[in-house]
Amino acid sequence: MAKNEAVKRALTYCSWPMVFFGGLVGAYFAFTSQHPITGFLAVYAGALMTLFLLERYIPYDTQWLEPDGETVNSIAHTLLTKGLVQLAALASVIFPMLTAGFLQPLAAMKFDLWPSGLPLIVQVVLAVAIAEFGLYWAHRIAHERVFFWRFHALHHSVVRLWVVNTGRFHVADSLFKIALSQIPLYLMGAPLHVFWWLAAVTAFIGILTHCNVDMKTGPLDYVFSTPRLHRWHHSKELPEGNTNYGENLVVFDQLFGSYFNPDRPSSTNIGIKGEIAKGFLPQLFQPFTKDGVRQIIGRSTKDN
Ligand SMILES: [Zn+2]
Ligand SMILES: [Zn+2]
Repeated sequence: MAKNEAVKRALTYCSWPMVFFGGLVGAYFAFTSQHPITGFLAVYAGALMTLFLLERYIPYDTQWLEPDGETVNSIAHTLLTKGLVQLAALASVIFPMLTAGFLQPLAAMKFDLWPSGLPLIVQVVLAVAIAEFGLYWAHRIAHERVFFWRFHALHHSVVRLWVVNTGRFHVADSLFKIALSQIPLYLMGAPLHVFWWLAAVTAFIGILTHCNVDMKTGPLDYVFSTPRLHRWHHSKELPEGNTNYGENLVVFDQLFGSYFNPDRPSSTNIGIKGEIAKGFLPQLFQPFTKDGVRQIIGRSTKDN
């Protein structure tokens, strides 16, 4: 029994670095192989499976292991968002003229500012930091402006955190975030493999921030968006929840005063004050109707 406890304790300290850095090493082998995309998907699936098992072995909150009826919806939102991004990429390959016409103003503005001569690792750190600026503000605006909160509330409507929530975003919310974070890199002329690495870092940090694993992240909380910090972000209490907007890094939370890391275990009282529709399609359309928005922000149709 004592041995079991020692293993659990060791895992709480090493699971974050193991999944993150292990994932990046896996991504390196995938990206330098003959099949970079398939290889990366295999590494990602491995990381997901590891976290899924850790959630059962060392959960942060055992109640979060119980089904909440939202698993299928969360997976459907993930697939729609990811699918649309893939479709857009595919369209630009199949119909280059059409896409070029559509994106002409953007393409014409492309500057050759990217420091391609620097070592790859420096380029990746730079890309993650530049993208983070857009991600931070997209996320902060999504919380502080009702117009954007109507889409982002879907992500916060869950009452349990686990890996499956990672991709639960309204498609409009995701597109806003992608636009703000990736267009600056595109305009600077960052090459495709830098976008791959940015996607890899975001993918591993994303599943880590949402997993229900008891992880002791200590000094990492001052650099990366960790599960501990992100659980505060999901708190139902606004002073706790409107903090820690960082997606991968917390540097902008520290710079702009939204960093929150008090010396106590992070909240398990998560969710929103408003109400999100039941079912995938109603959830997708809810932000587009007046009554839907009232429900999302927690105002009944009667009081104006
Ligand atoms: Zn949020
Ligand atoms: Zn989240």
